[in-house]
Amino acid sequence: MTTKLDRAVLEAMDEHDALRSFRDRFHLPDGLIYLDGNSLGAMPKAASERVRHVVDVEWAQGLIRSWNQYGWIDLQQRIGAKIGRLIGAGEGETIVADSTSVNLFKMLAAALKLRPGRRIVLSEPANFPTDLYMAEGLIALLGGEHELVLAEPDDIESAINEDVAAVMLTHVNYRTGRMYDMAKVTERAHRAGALTVWDLAHSAGAVPLDLAAAGADFAVGCGYKYLNGGPGAPAFLYIAKRHQDTVAVPLTGWFGHADPFSFEPSYRPATGIERALVGTPPLISLAALEVGVDLVLEVPMNALREKSVRQADVFAALVEQELAGFDFAIVSPRDAAYRGSQVCLSHTESWPIMQALIARGVIGDFRAPDILRFGFTPLYLGYAELWDAVGVLRHIMESGEWEQPAHQVRLKVT
Ligand SMILES: *Cc1c(COP(=O)(O)O)cnc(C)c1O
Repeated sequence: MTTKLDRAVLEAMDEHDALRSFRDRFHLPDGLIYLDGNSLGAMPKAASERVRHVVDVEWAQGLIRSWNQYGWIDLQQRIGAKIGRLIGAGEGETIVADSTSVNLFKMLAAALKLRPGRRIVLSEPANFPTDLYMAEGLIALLGGEHELVLAEPDDIESAINEDVAAVMLTHVNYRTGRMYDMAKVTERAHRAGALTVWDLAHSAGAVPLDLAAAGADFAVGCGYKYLNGGPGAPAFLYIAKRHQDTVAVPLTGWFGHADPFSFEPSYRPATGIERALVGTPPLISLAALEVGVDLVLEVPMNALREKSVRQADVFAALVEQELAGFDFAIVSPRDAAYRGSQVCLSHTESWPIMQALIARGVIGDFRAPDILRFGFTPLYLGYAELWDAVGVLRHIMESGEWEQPAHQVRLKVT
C-alpha cells in the first residue's frame, strides 16, 4: 500500500463495505475494538434466544422427549453438514463432536492404524502445543513404536518419506498466521503413501477451504473461534469418504455404535462419519454453535476472505506507517496467499504492551514468548477500528503507558 492511510480513507472503506451490516448481528460492547475473534469469536445476538429456548422449553418442558421432538439426536450431524459446506467437504464427511484436542487424538489414531508399519508422525515444532501433546500421548499409548518428528514449515515437504504414516499440521499457524498450501502438502504426502491430518482451528470460517479438492484425509477444527460458537463450543472433524468404512476410531463410545439404542454388549462401528462420535454431546453449547455457523454461512466465503485480506494488509501498512521506531516486527507473512486472518507483531515487551492495549479497550492477545496477536473477523470488524487500534498502540508507546506496573502482572490466561 503506497498511499498514506488516514482515518478518512478507512471510514470510506467502511462505507463501501458490503459486510458492514453484519456487525449488528453480534453483541459487542460499545467502544471495544475486538481483535481476538481468532481466539473467542464474538457472540451472535441470536444465540441468546436460541439458548434460552433450549433451556426454557426444550430442557425445562420437553425433558427427555426433546431428543426426538427437537431433533437433539441429529444435531451433531446437522451442524457438521453445515460446517462441511464452509470447508469444501462432501456430504457426510463432517460431524460435530468433542473438543479439537480429543478429535485430533481420534483422527491421528485412525490415520496411524491405516498405515501399519510406518513409524513417523510428521509435524512442526511451532504447531499448537495441544496437537503435539496429543500426538505424544497417543504414541506412548501405542507402545512407543512411533516417533513424532518435527520439521520447520519450509522443510515439511522434503521430510515426507516412506516411513511417514501421517503428516499432522495446523493449516494456519496460531502464532504467526502462516498458512500452508493444503493441496500441495497433501499431494506430496500421498505420493509417499502418507496420510494427512489437518487442524483447521484458525482456518474454518476464516479462509476458503476445499478439503475435497485438496484430497485431505482427516481434519479437525474449532467451534469457538471464527465460527462464533461460544466459549468451549464443541469442535468438528472430517473424514474423507474413501476412508470411512475402513477407519477405526479408538474411542468406541455408544454414539459411534451402529445402533446405539439396541444396547448391544459389544461395539459395532456405525457406517459413515457417525463412527467418529463418542458420547452424549453438550446440547446447550451445540445449539449456540449452530447459530454461529449459520451466521457465517450467510456470507460467501470469498467475500469474507477478500475483506480479511484487505484488513490484514491495512493493519500491516498502518503498523509500518504509524509505529516506525518502536521496534515492532511484523511476524506474519506479507503475502496473503500464505497468511490466515491475523497479523502478529513481535516485540521484547509484548506482554505489558498487550495489557496496556487491553486496558484501553483494544483486545488482542499475547502468545509466548514475544508475540502480539491481532485477528481479523470481517463479519464484525470495521476498517476505521484498525486505525483507532493502531492509534492506541502508538499512544501507549509514545507515552510509555505500557511501563506501568499494573501491566507487568502475568495472568493465568494470556
Ligand atoms: C485453539 C486451538 C486448539 C484448541 O483445542 P481445544 O481442544 O479446543 O482446547 C487446538 N489446536 C489448534 C491449532 C488451535 O488453534
